[in-house]
Amino acid sequence: MDIDLETFRAETRAWLEENCPPAMRTPMRSEKDATWGGRNPVFAHPDQKLWMDRMGARGWTVPDWPSEYGGGGLSPAETKILREEMARLKCRNPLNSFGISMLGPALLKYGTEAQKLEHLPRIARGEMRWCQGYSEPNAGSDLAGLQASAEDAGDHYIVNGQKVWTSYADQADWIFCLVRTDKTSKQGGISFVLFDMASEGVSTKPILLISGNSPFCETFFDNVKVPKANRVHDENKGWDVAKYLLGHEREMISGMGLASRGEDPLIESARRGVDPILRAQIALFEVRSKAFSAMSERFIDELKAGRAHPAQPSMMKYYGTELNKARHELLMAAGGSDTLEWESEASNHGAAPRAWLRTKANSIEGGTSEIQLNIIAKRILDLPS
Ligand SMILES: Cc1cc2nc3c(=O)[nH]c(=O)nc-3n(C[C@H](O)[C@H](O)[C@H](O)COP(=O)(O)OP(=O)(O)OC[C@H]3O[C@@H](n4cnc5c(N)ncnc54)[C@H](O)[C@@H]3O)c2cc1C
Repeated sequence: MDIDLETFRAETRAWLEENCPPAMRTPMRSEKDATWGGRNPVFAHPDQKLWMDRMGARGWTVPDWPSEYGGGGLSPAETKILREEMARLKCRNPLNSFGISMLGPALLKYGTEAQKLEHLPRIARGEMRWCQGYSEPNAGSDLAGLQASAEDAGDHYIVNGQKVWTSYADQADWIFCLVRTDKTSKQGGISFVLFDMASEGVSTKPILLISGNSPFCETFFDNVKVPKANRVHDENKGWDVAKYLLGHEREMISGMGLASRGEDPLIESARRGVDPILRAQIALFEVRSKAFSAMSERFIDELKAGRAHPAQPSMMKYYGTELNKARHELLMAAGGSDTLEWESEASNHGAAPRAWLRTKANSIEGGTSEIQLNIIAKRILDLPS
């Protein structure tokens, strides 16, 4: 037994027990319960702020980032223990953030020291909400075909163009954005820039969905002035940053396939003795789910040790999102006609069908399943393209 790690576990458990408010140990009822932080944060419950602030002050919103950038400076083993102890207490995620799961890792690898010091601690404390400006009307899967342009204007760029499917662009403070700085080269003409969504010339238009929600926007840039100091990595080398960030995004999305924290309603359904065919399907799902958790753990260990295959996030994303879809299909089946409730208070305003519908997007966002299969075929299986 590693005495240091056992001491860390005991201290972490005691701290969490003392500091995680009871309201943050209950299951989230809807997307509104998620904590996003930002310049103008919205909290459905005051304890969300308390929990985000306490974890942020300790660097535990990003436990494995270096402490000089607002992180917890924890080793991989300590990070794992923190996650286990949070799961044991059923602690909610203190902060949902594209900054944490996407931009942060890219800045840690490619950012200048000034960029890291400016942005990372604010991300860690939940002070800035970020959105992702990748997709365009004719450049989704063919991302490198993007056209939004950045003209050189001395110490700054002038950005023009349109993005689409920009999740929460209307609520975000800053955007990380791919722009074209050279029209003569496809992948080799892209740069990665950061700018304030309050900049003159930026506008957003929410896209209303059939569910009545409006999680994403069309985003327009009309002569937006972006300082060159906000470019991450070299000019025309943004594709390297974009791909690295996408690996992290895919890993994050794959995490949706991992078993939920706390009591599993599927296992509960199986215990209650729903029909034998459904019971068998639930058992099969549980086996696949356990295999995926083991694969995921191995992948994270390999990643931390620098041995992961760069295309591994595509495998994780493909399988994790299929698993998440299967999970919600089963939850709908096990819940029977009750899960068809869409609007009543009792159904928590259709939480089950809304969550089921949302899983359909998992295999599109961050690169579709077909694209992941292409990547796996080409880069892992070495099949001809
Ligand atoms: C919930 C959600 C949130 C999103 N959030 C953001 C965001 O915040 N920021 C952002 O920039 N983007 C975001 N997106 C956009 C997302 O990344 C794109 O939708 C995705 O990359 C697919 O691009 P597309 O929609 O243009 O579809 P297309 O590329 O037009 O694809 C249409 C279909 O054709 C298939 N296809 C295309 N090319 C090939 C090929 N070569 N081989 C085989 N099949 C192919 C696709 O797999 C798909 O089934 C989001 C999408 C969703 C659903």
